[in-house]
Amino acid sequence: MELLPTEIEEYALAHTTKEPQLLAELNRETWANIMTPRMLSGHLQGRILSMFSKLVSPENILEIGTYTGYSALCLAEGLKTEGTLHTLDINEECTAVANRYFNKSDYRKNIQQHIGKALDIIPTLNCKFQLVFIDADKENYENYFDAIINKMDIGGLIIADNVLWSGKVTKIQKDEETTALDNYNKKIVASDRVETVLFPIRDGLMISRKVK
Ligand code: SAH
Ligand code: CA
Repeated sequence: MELLPTEIEEYALAHTTKEPQLLAELNRETWANIMTPRMLSGHLQGRILSMFSKLVSPENILEIGTYTGYSALCLAEGLKTEGTLHTLDINEECTAVANRYFNKSDYRKNIQQHIGKALDIIPTLNCKFQLVFIDADKENYENYFDAIINKMDIGGLIIADNVLWSGKVTKIQKDEETTALDNYNKKIVASDRVETVLFPIRDGLMISRKVK
């Protein structure tokens, strides 16, 4: 299910800044050659991630779920000049594509890729994050929140993708992934450590700001 009527989606895109050339190329290559290209953030969501990152101007960003690197390059646009984006994925094939595009980008020196299970890697990262993008396996969203919250500065943002899961979170019958996402949303809105807005954009973006 698409959340927005096509004409609204198209109108929104027509009135949103173009995606940079390199990202347009990566978008095309992912759709042409890679499995499950729907996972790529794409033009509208990419510009939203870039905008949030520029507003935060983070020293350190953590991305959980690199895929082919599209969202990483959008988030990197807002990094401080000497800042670092750590991006995590278990899939070597996707991360190889991402690596090629990172090499061609202005952010090569700012991006560190890590290959493996996110929950194994996060505890090894010894820095404070001002922006975290959660976009890997849905069953672990709650675990990702628990793993990162103490590694974030007050005022930092956590952006979690796909939290509406095509609207399936609103249905009574839920499969495992839908239940996990619904549990994440419930946990976050009940947490006193963050303030939260669920943006019904694309597949649902939950934006949470750490307050304690
Ligand atoms: N953020 C990307 C899309 C990510 S798709 C974009 O917007 O363009 C989700 C990714 O999570 C996939 O590449 C998948 O390999 C990865 N993933 C799934 N389970 C994972 C885990 N346990 N640890 C790290 N990455 C995982
Ligand atoms: Ca996603």
